[in-house]
Amino acid sequence: MLHITGTARCISDLHLCPERADLAARFFNFLAATGEADVAALFILGDLFDAWIGDDDLDEPFNAKVCGELRKLADQGTPLYFLAGNRDFLIGEDFAAATGARLLPETMKVGAGGTATLLLHGDTLCTDDVDYQRFRTQVRDAAWQARFLSRPLAERRAEARSLRERSRQATRAKSMEIMDVNVASVRATLLAAGCRHMIHGHTHRPGCEHLTLDDGIAERWVLSDWDNGRGDALEIDANSIRRLDLSR
Ligand code: MN
Repeated sequence: MLHITGTARCISDLHLCPERADLAARFFNFLAATGEADVAALFILGDLFDAWIGDDDLDEPFNAKVCGELRKLADQGTPLYFLAGNRDFLIGEDFAAATGARLLPETMKVGAGGTATLLLHGDTLCTDDVDYQRFRTQVRDAAWQARFLSRPLAERRAEARSLRERSRQATRAKSMEIMDVNVASVRATLLAAGCRHMIHGHTHRPGCEHLTLDDGIAERWVLSDWDNGRGDALEIDANSIRRLDLSR
């Protein structure tokens, strides 16, 4: 467990890309405000980028700009943590070195005071989406990743574009229920971690849901994506979790 003294912030699902200067501008404002707010840590819970094709693309101007802004915050003394989403799971140690962020495993238990909160991207909870879970297993495989990373950047960029298009089509064809979290998976994940609070993104369905565990009530907080005039952060401290509106 990672101990936090003070207030930590969590964000996810910004889906930054060069075509959306507006999103990047809102993100940079948020980073500047976070630097001034004296927060104990910033946790990025995946899908910071709409696509990340490998750390050897760090010099691409848009990537370099985003990483530079993250670096500024880290250099000001705000601890920065990154947990991978389904769009940027190829982020690696070179990204970490460039930004000053520490890379987290798929789930991370964070403690502020007596409360332990489990942080994760959220895609692992969507177990009803069997096609997606099969795809996830494939692309998280080390041999698959090594093969992908050995291809030229231009080829990977084209492949990422075509994957996004296929994912958009698949998303349209699937029901809302299939693409949401499976409640049994949420319960099992909380029980395995020994937590009563969970924060994740991925589903783009911001909210706070109460659910019963064997021995009481648990809370599942969901972060918003930043598109369509939306955007938020969740703040954790010793006593509470609360939502910050970042939609403008
Ligand atoms: Mn996602």
